[in-house]
Amino acid sequence: MNYFSTRDKSLKFSFKDIFLRGLAPGGGLFLPSEIKKFDKDELNGLSKLGYKELATEIIFNFCKEEVSKNELKLLIEKSYRTFKDEEVVNLKKFGDINLLELYKGPTLAFKDIAMQIIGNLYEHLEVAKEKEVNIVVATSGDTGSAAVSALNGRKNINLFVLHPHNKISSVQRKIMTTIGSSNIYNIAVKGSFDDCQKIVKELFNDDDFRSKINMSGVNSINWARIVCQIVYYFYSFFKLKKENISFSVPTGNFGDIYAGYIAKKMGLPITKLIVATNENDILQRVINTGEYKPDKVKPSISPSMDIQIASNFERLLFYVLGEDDQKVRLLMNDLSKKGSFRLNQSEMENIKRDFEAVKINDEDTKLIIKNINNEFKFIIDPHTATGFGAAKKVKGLENVVVLGTAHPFKFKDTIKKAIGKDLEAPSYLKIDMNKKEKFDIIENSNLQVKNYILRKVK
Ligand SMILES: *Cc1c(COP(=O)(O)O)cnc(C)c1O
Repeated sequence: MNYFSTRDKSLKFSFKDIFLRGLAPGGGLFLPSEIKKFDKDELNGLSKLGYKELATEIIFNFCKEEVSKNELKLLIEKSYRTFKDEEVVNLKKFGDINLLELYKGPTLAFKDIAMQIIGNLYEHLEVAKEKEVNIVVATSGDTGSAAVSALNGRKNINLFVLHPHNKISSVQRKIMTTIGSSNIYNIAVKGSFDDCQKIVKELFNDDDFRSKINMSGVNSINWARIVCQIVYYFYSFFKLKKENISFSVPTGNFGDIYAGYIAKKMGLPITKLIVATNENDILQRVINTGEYKPDKVKPSISPSMDIQIASNFERLLFYVLGEDDQKVRLLMNDLSKKGSFRLNQSEMENIKRDFEAVKINDEDTKLIIKNINNEFKFIIDPHTATGFGAAKKVKGLENVVVLGTAHPFKFKDTIKKAIGKDLEAPSYLKIDMNKKEKFDIIENSNLQVKNYILRKVK
């Protein structure tokens, strides 16, 4: 088994290569040459496992050339010791909808589930043994804190986190900027998340710079993150004990929901994957109209989804276009030259077989938070609320699971506006947010970020 690029199938990379690089040369994304498909008997066997054992069985299929199953098992156990619950995630029932709580990790969002493993993989794969590794990552609010928590204080690793200045919640920012030791650098870029992501991609495509600083990435374009997220789709299905299942997923960069698409390819009987977006609805538009056209980012009350360039969508395109790397390359060229591309009727139908897409605006999001609280005495965060809203709007589905992507405390100001309540930090948040924050504010400029990093790396 090896990995290739969505824009060039002839390339061959190992798991370790793609783990380190994140982005393929030429700008494509990595995909595995084989995807294990479980049959009924194998699914039955998996259904008896606890979360961590299940994670071992699933993740192993994507890295077995580099990590033995026993090593992986130990690595996963160690990674999830930082979580509140032994079972890592938790499935709850609200009327005819289910909620999968994915925010029991150290920084209160689902990003911890993959990032804690990735932190330990850096160590296990010994990528920083001979030469210091510099990780550069863009965050819309939650990836950054998860990465800081996972990589804090690790030997021979520096982490540079770019977040959009003043465009994430204050709790999101504080978790990220108060816990870092000397290997962590927070950068507030005067721009949007898309600007941050663009800078990171440009740095990756700058061969001289990349090799000079031995650069690595942990954005959701890193395949290892997606792999870790496949696990909870299976886990939900086994917990629900029904013949089929659908998921409603608050979506920004199309990473989390893409993990569900891979789960389906691996044999999980998923009827539909529902893309829930806020006003930044590029994915809703491409799925319902066929046109992929990034707009300006509109700040919303679900900032982790304030994204207009949903990078992982390219990974879906690859399959929708019949695994034709040339076609992917053409569409991506259209995107960078003309600012958009268009899918034809059969490609759209192909997507519609697996996906639905619904936009939920801020006003409705607040209303959903209020209604769920009134009806069930339970508080959900604004991202998760879009998932509930989207699930309600798609008719005719049974056994729908909404992915709960963040703890409401991270968005306590919005919660206060929606239901008038002050939220306390959950007991498993082990971070003192009254500590002095550490971050530098930088212009939205590739060159300035580059120079900043070079000064720190020396
Ligand atoms: C990152 C994030 C999302 C979006 O996930 P993608 O993988 O980018 O689609 C949704 N909700 C929260 C709380 C997040 O942190």
